[in-house]
Amino acid sequence: MLNETCRFKLEPQAENLAILDELFKNYCKMVKECLKAMHLNITSRKRLHEAIYKELRTEYPDYPSHYVYTAITQALGIFKSYRRLSRNRKNNKPPSINGSITILLDDTHLFWFSWGNIKLATHKGHIIVPFKIHEHAKFYDWSVKGSRLVRSNDEYYLHVSFRKEIIEEEPLGLIGIDINEKSIDLAIVKPDKVRFIKVDISEVKYIRYRYYRKRKSIQAKTSGEKRKRLLSKYSGRERERVDAILHKASKVIAEIIEEEHVKPVMEKLKNIRDKIDYGRKMNRRLHAMPFRKIQSYISYKAMERGFNSEMVDAKNTSRRCPICGELNKPNGHVFKCRRCYFQADRHLVAAWNIAMKRSMWGALPLPPKALDEPLIIEVKGKGRDESL
Ligand SMILES: [Zn+2]
Repeated sequence: MLNETCRFKLEPQAENLAILDELFKNYCKMVKECLKAMHLNITSRKRLHEAIYKELRTEYPDYPSHYVYTAITQALGIFKSYRRLSRNRKNNKPPSINGSITILLDDTHLFWFSWGNIKLATHKGHIIVPFKIHEHAKFYDWSVKGSRLVRSNDEYYLHVSFRKEIIEEEPLGLIGIDINEKSIDLAIVKPDKVRFIKVDISEVKYIRYRYYRKRKSIQAKTSGEKRKRLLSKYSGRERERVDAILHKASKVIAEIIEEEHVKPVMEKLKNIRDKIDYGRKMNRRLHAMPFRKIQSYISYKAMERGFNSEMVDAKNTSRRCPICGELNKPNGHVFKCRRCYFQADRHLVAAWNIAMKRSMWGALPLPPKALDEPLIIEVKGKGRDESL
């Protein structure tokens, strides 16, 4: 199942603008009333409903009753995250909704989506609000699951959650995916062959380093508001650039998955720590790599193509010899087996071992030089940032 949210900018006519404005005001009031009731220790949906539903219905008789339902749902959500936060921090302020101006819409009673406009149930009957569609063609055959109306700087937006059922492909093999600081290493394992690919993402490291230095110099040369503003500007830019490369890399990998018709196998993240033990400095760098993000990009893009990822316990994936099974101590970039003297790139061995955790084929014929000469695909960003 694929889920994606898309944002559309609404373009209401003048008379509907006033209706939307009123709807937001009163909906906010409803949510606030719910939060007030919850402050008296009513925290279950059932009791909240019993305590407040009738009252709100009487107070807002012109509004479709489902707004009361979604206001209750929203208040419960706000309260839940408030409680989670106040457990972590002392002196949390009571929950408020001053910052968030959002209306949760029920997908069967409050709005009807079509490409180009929505029909919205309001206190003044149904209104139709148009919006522009740009590059949303991919969602045309998806189903609509819920939505939110959002007001931001006096503009109105519709956030729609789309859902699509995916038909799973029958894989012909596996692909072990090992994520590292400078590369994502792939081992394609099929009944009759093993193939290795290294996706070079070392540019991420380069970008990281440049921005790290930039941050240091900002910290040294500026202070106060200016420092804060510059730091947040550059960290936003860094994230964007790193993200662009990670998206490109995961697309490359998803295309390989589709072409080879293989099931992705990745490591469960809790094991990633014991992959490397090169001291503090190395570990800090490694942990800065957004593993979870890369994994989710890959698994999403693979799923779009009909291949569901599997997560395996990564214990010993960097230590076990894929040829003889001996457990070795990882040492440097080259994996060396002390028993059978097999040698190869450490990351490719790890990727191979990850795939083998799910393989039913046992030892495989290894083409000569398969590990010495893997296919290398370099993933680069859009060019250097001039300002750095
Ligand atoms: Zn060995």
